[in-house]
Amino acid sequence: MTEAGSFAEKVKQQADIVRVVGEYVRLKKTGKDFSGLCPFHQEKTPSFTVSPIKQIFYCFGCGRGGDVYNFVMDMEKCEFPEAVKLVAEKCGIAIPRQKEHSPEERKENQQRSVLVEMHREAQAFFAKQLEGTLEGKAARAYLEDRGLDKEAIAQFGIGYAPSGGDALLRHLKHKYNEKLLVESGLVSRDQSAGRLFDRFRRRITFPISNESGKIVAFGARALGDDMPKYLNSPETLIYSKSNLLYHMDRAKEGIRRQDFAILVEGYMDAIAVARAGISNVVASCGTSLAEPQIKLLGRFTKRVIVNYDPDTAGQAATERSIAILLEQDFEVRVLALPGKADPDKFIREQGADAYMKLVKESPPYVDYLIARARQMDMTTAEGKLRAVNFLLPYVQKIPNRILRSEWATRIAQQLRLDEPVLRAALSKAAAERRSEVKTQPELVGRAAKPIERRLIRMLAEGEGFRGELAQQLHQGQLYHGLETEKIFGALIVATLSGQAVQATEIAAALEERDRRLLYEILFEETSELTWEEAQSCVEALRHRQAEKQLADVQRSIEANPAAPELRDLLQKKQDLMRRLAAAR
Ligand SMILES: [Zn+2]
Repeated sequence: MTEAGSFAEKVKQQADIVRVVGEYVRLKKTGKDFSGLCPFHQEKTPSFTVSPIKQIFYCFGCGRGGDVYNFVMDMEKCEFPEAVKLVAEKCGIAIPRQKEHSPEERKENQQRSVLVEMHREAQAFFAKQLEGTLEGKAARAYLEDRGLDKEAIAQFGIGYAPSGGDALLRHLKHKYNEKLLVESGLVSRDQSAGRLFDRFRRRITFPISNESGKIVAFGARALGDDMPKYLNSPETLIYSKSNLLYHMDRAKEGIRRQDFAILVEGYMDAIAVARAGISNVVASCGTSLAEPQIKLLGRFTKRVIVNYDPDTAGQAATERSIAILLEQDFEVRVLALPGKADPDKFIREQGADAYMKLVKESPPYVDYLIARARQMDMTTAEGKLRAVNFLLPYVQKIPNRILRSEWATRIAQQLRLDEPVLRAALSKAAAERRSEVKTQPELVGRAAKPIERRLIRMLAEGEGFRGELAQQLHQGQLYHGLETEKIFGALIVATLSGQAVQATEIAAALEERDRRLLYEILFEETSELTWEEAQSCVEALRHRQAEKQLADVQRSIEANPAAPELRDLLQKKQDLMRRLAAAR
């Protein structure tokens, strides 16, 4: 895949796999390697390993492995060229102009960058309207009332879309054609008259950036009583709301550092929390949390504090979020602010310290849910059953069996459930888990003999004697009939062909079982690889080969062959026994 001298190879040499993987997986140094929880299968103890020396990764649980590109391709579900680009971007390596793109791809990429540029211009336009116009003055007054001063306005790029209906359109149309303007979502087309007009009118605008900080959409709050109160950009080529979390571009460092994120509903909440000095906050932005958003978050932490509005809609959103976060194996806590306040209001009235204190004290989600269940009518059997039915799905989503059972007991106690039927329902839920993720059955027979493992390692990494070793193994056919024959075959062919041995490429050509075995061998703790050791391993293989031949000869002799053949066989037997005796 990575041809010598290609851009892909250059990037691979410069990129550090630990740094790239570290953006997706929390890695800990363990000896020479790094390990963490595998992003490709659910697990509680780390079996995902990254080698900075070999620049490869391997998961001992699910068997995924490869180089930095394999990782990014699996992670981002993208093809090789896209993975090269992503890695280059992550490492700040300039990408040469691609010639091999299809015309459609080129057109789409071009369109993407035009749309991003258009959003940048719109942002500057909105900011100017807020700062320098009469209309903007009313918006400024509103923002000030909400505790957002000049500095906050600049920091979060807040702007104003005037009421005229075509102010932005007039600003942009000399530069962009109608089709692009409509595709940007900044401008809409009147269905009946076919006329173009601004999507956002008389609204305070909040730029929404993607993870890398590029503005791809706007959220806009009505200044007056216009409905809807909040209006967002539609889905476009550059904006998909379920793939993006508001403030993620600025929050990710803080999230990684503190190993938790605060999840709020809207951008005003996120801004309020961030302004209070708590940078690790993101907003799901009006929509209920979607799986891609959680996957995005999961690259930085697996611990979330959900702090949604305490109203009915907010409660429902909280409960939906809990369910979907649990499915992705997050540790979830819930912060329900007193006095039915949203984070923005609470911080304005009580201050950042009071908020931070509550953040630290926020209870595990089960306590929140039990409290919610207790608000139901618990005096009748039907009421209790309803409460249990409310809780059951969450209990079932807890991935860990022991935890699940503990929570079931706790719920039964807290809700004072004596009825055997209800208890039974809970313990049944605790025992079974519908969406249980089973790790793949162990595919790898760890039977490969130590000598074979050592030799494979030497063929892959024995600098200076790899060629000679391959030659010997090849000439004596010493690896034939071994369990690891295919691995040897691939390594020997690659070595003898004179090319550099790329373990990941050899692995990719092998069958699953051999592929996994090769990775396991490459990740084994190892002492120095020497020619002397290689020789004694080769000797051992020769010995084993002779033993096997001897057994074959013996079997043939016992099958009563004709006299001339028997003579040959006896001669062979003598030779082999002599060889074996000499080796001892
Ligand atoms: Zn795995």
